[in-house]
Amino acid sequence: MNKGGIGVIVTEKAPAKINLSLDTPMRYLDGSPRWDMVMTSIDLADYLTIEIHRRPQTIKIYTDSGFLPNDQRNLAYQAVHILKTRFHREEGVTVRIKKKVPVAAGLGGGSSDAAAVLRGLNRGWQLGLSLDELAKLSLTIDSDVPYCIYNHTAHVTGHGEQVTLINAIPHYWAVVAKPSVSVSTPIILRQINYEQIQHLDNVGIMTAIEEGDWRSAFDKMGNVLEPVTMPHYPAIKFLKERMQKLGADFAQMSGTGPTVFALCHNESRAKRIYNGLRGFCSEVYQVVLL
Ligand code: ATP
Repeated sequence: MNKGGIGVIVTEKAPAKINLSLDTPMRYLDGSPRWDMVMTSIDLADYLTIEIHRRPQTIKIYTDSGFLPNDQRNLAYQAVHILKTRFHREEGVTVRIKKKVPVAAGLGGGSSDAAAVLRGLNRGWQLGLSLDELAKLSLTIDSDVPYCIYNHTAHVTGHGEQVTLINAIPHYWAVVAKPSVSVSTPIILRQINYEQIQHLDNVGIMTAIEEGDWRSAFDKMGNVLEPVTMPHYPAIKFLKERMQKLGADFAQMSGTGPTVFALCHNESRAKRIYNGLRGFCSEVYQVVLL
């Protein structure tokens, strides 16, 4: 790797996240929710190639998805821009993204791409920043980006900037299914009725996970946005119920939806759920928790 980083090409994997739990105790004065979530990552990922070149000041983003923006609206672009500005880097940067994570799915695909760019440029430019420092820089991009810097089971609070890693989950299979509906995150967030939320015991959930007591974790896990999102999109409820009928240990919507995931302690059960959903849903994946 040369000192200025010119000519350097780095690759990064950008895994999707799922919400093992999602709660919000209150709204901030600006109307945004204060989060209280337990998140983990899965081995469904986008793949990025980041190239640093001499042409000054240009940021180019290419994706193999026909309907994603390639300009400053792309979260990967914003990640390049933040590091270029902060460290006064004159080089051009080209990012090529192979999208595998469904878009606008509640799986944090865009946030994970941005986090991967930050990690990749940190290496390519030899900036020497720690993951904590990268996470701090990343918050202005999107609330899920700090978590995606680590991609490790974690308690995530505040606007998403407080990330506390917890012991990794033992090997578990997951099936992830995205119904073909588009959920608008801002619209869902505006509809949260804070008086009606049944809050979750996230401390209990984390203790159970760390102790490997999955039965107890499943009893406590939840997503307080399910009652907000599901009534608008019956397909989400249908997929969740189907996963339960097919024998999932646990099934839940991720983020603001519409993706639903099932967790299974054995692979054959996960395969059965995967096969049982393929006829109903075009975007379904059998994966493992990272
Ligand atoms: P959120 O819950 O933060 O809305 P999500 O996980 O539901 O995120 P993403 O796949 O991150 O969904 O996409 C959310 C929005 O971000 C989409 O409208 C998309 O156009 C935009 N976006 C910007 N950059 C990207 C990217 N690199 N990959 C995916 N979406 C991106």
